[in-house]
Amino acid sequence: MMDGNQMVIELRNICKNYYLGKQEVPVLSNISLSVESHEFVSIMGPSGAGKSTLMNILGCLDRPTSGSYRLAGEEVAGLSDEQLAYTRNREIGFVFQSFNLLPRLSALDNVILPMVYGNVYKSERRPRAEALLRELGLGERIGHMPSELSGGQRQRVAIARALVNDPAIIMADEPTGNLDSKSTKDVMDILVRLYKTGKTIILVTHEASVADYATRHVILADGRISQDLRRKP
Ligand code: ADP
Ligand code: MG
Repeated sequence: MMDGNQMVIELRNICKNYYLGKQEVPVLSNISLSVESHEFVSIMGPSGAGKSTLMNILGCLDRPTSGSYRLAGEEVAGLSDEQLAYTRNREIGFVFQSFNLLPRLSALDNVILPMVYGNVYKSERRPRAEALLRELGLGERIGHMPSELSGGQRQRVAIARALVNDPAIIMADEPTGNLDSKSTKDVMDILVRLYKTGKTIILVTHEASVADYATRHVILADGRISQDLRRKP
């Protein structure tokens, strides 16, 4: 576990513009945000506010137009695509609304896959994937294909996949957006458990009841942070 107040994320004056034809459209304007290790941050805001754009920058899946981003103390702006991918795989586990599992791979093989690109010995991969799937209540389902699993089960496979290289940060963009209320609670309980074991969680949602699980609430409006509220865990 990391020390309590180490900064894992430091955004300074991040701007992101898109081009519509020749017209430059600002989507994020001067976002500054610091997240310490072992925080559980929700990012909320209306549709089109820039939540996914911000999450993609935080997750090193996209680059800002300008501004500085330090991830785990390292300035990300100057990294090559290859270095960026390496940093991303080491530091961050992703969970998406639509699960993004590979349909032709079993639950087990979906979880094994990131270890093939990570630095995990071959003999360790399968036991580690199985243990994670068991921990997430999927011990009986490891050989199933994604199409044979419910939405909640698929999302738990995706969480196992996100955890398998032991990242310090979990980023989840609307992870419960396609789930019923029971599966939503299961997934949020897992995220809370991960937070309590020392992970840093960043969660994008437009549902207040889901954001309530977090201990800090960042509200985006029109590409700017309009509120940043903390509560005691
Ligand atoms: P949210 O996730 O909060 O709904 P997004 O970050 O997806 O918002 O989008 C914010 C704004 O940026 C929207 O107006 C959207 O249309 C625009 N946008 C997002 N991606 C692109 C893109 N690749 N090209 C042009 N505009 C985009
Ligand atoms: Mg979005």
